[in-house]
Amino acid sequence: MIILNVTNLNTLPYLKFQADNIFTGTEMLGSNSVLITDEKGIIEDIIDKKDAGENIQKHVGIISPGFINCHCHLELSHLKGVIPEHTGMVDFILQILEKRASPQELIQDAIEKAEAEMIANGIVAVGDICNTTNTINQKKKGNIYYHNFIEISGFVPQSAQERFDAGLDIYNEFATHFPNNSTLVPHAPYSVSNDLFELLSDTSKNKISTIHNQESKEENEFFEQGIGDFTRLYKVLGIDISFFESQHKTSLASIAHHLTKASKTILAHDTFTSSSDVEILKSISGNTKTQFYFCICVLANKYITRSFPNQALFEKNLSNIVLGTDSLASNHTLNLLTEIEFMKNKFSTLSDVDLLRFATNNGASALGIENKYGSFKRGKQPGIILIDKYLKSPKSLISTK
Ligand SMILES: [Zn+2]
Repeated sequence: MIILNVTNLNTLPYLKFQADNIFTGTEMLGSNSVLITDEKGIIEDIIDKKDAGENIQKHVGIISPGFINCHCHLELSHLKGVIPEHTGMVDFILQILEKRASPQELIQDAIEKAEAEMIANGIVAVGDICNTTNTINQKKKGNIYYHNFIEISGFVPQSAQERFDAGLDIYNEFATHFPNNSTLVPHAPYSVSNDLFELLSDTSKNKISTIHNQESKEENEFFEQGIGDFTRLYKVLGIDISFFESQHKTSLASIAHHLTKASKTILAHDTFTSSSDVEILKSISGNTKTQFYFCICVLANKYITRSFPNQALFEKNLSNIVLGTDSLASNHTLNLLTEIEFMKNKFSTLSDVDLLRFATNNGASALGIENKYGSFKRGKQPGIILIDKYLKSPKSLISTK
């Protein structure tokens, strides 16, 4: 470890960054602080300006660690602008099923462009949902860190093993290239049978998992009363769900006992997650090693249902909130700052520091990559981005490689 002082700061090849503010991943430092990295952007220290010597890059705005997008579906990028807004959840799902097939060339082109868009917007790591192997080629380039969540669905209990085996084939292809950052995961409470949850829960043991959670009010309605738009979904799909019996509990309360084995589980959306749902998760965390993260995707909520999480969700869970863009099928852009900007207006109790922390430190912790990403601690290489002081227009100053 090198102790930094004025002499070696001027002779060794350090990079020095100063701005109106430096956001460290957890707190905001003012313009008197200078971030010191080596040539590759590995963090050395944050020191006072008067001790930093010469050749300081001065920037207007906020310097931050690169952003972590905890919920995306890169493979759906070719559906940008294809599905109309405000259809509600069930019709959105039906349209995805109907329209997702496309020539491989178009799919690959859209994936490449969407990744470039994320990089341009300061995103350095992504929790990415995969139903196909379509994103493997792009991910092999190593431009962004991905945790691949290979997603399985199947609500009919008799199909559990068959669905599991099909998902396992896709998982094995990902695991060949990305053995440490691929997990088989359930799609959502309303699309996974108990039998399939059981098969999945063992494979997620001590790994990082995710599930779509309470994205629409109809999801809770289906579980609490056995009625509503999800019964229409299965009718349209020609799937007999007469076996299904409501437990008169919310969707999360009905399936939470399947979420006990992963080391971390990212719950995506949480639009209709109540305080009592959160209490159920807390008691699971108290009895197991599982940690839960709430991944907020407000612009996808706006696109599909125009419903948003309850502000109360944020109040007690600030260290467990992370952000996601969802896919270009339900968002106009893959940009966490646009999500932050919207949340800033929507949820008055959240500070800039809270919002930036969701996008950096918390996201890195949710994806288990805090040894490299999410904050400006010595030895990390989190990428350095510049944001203007109004939290718009992110720009990469230095990458993570
Ligand atoms: Zn999603």
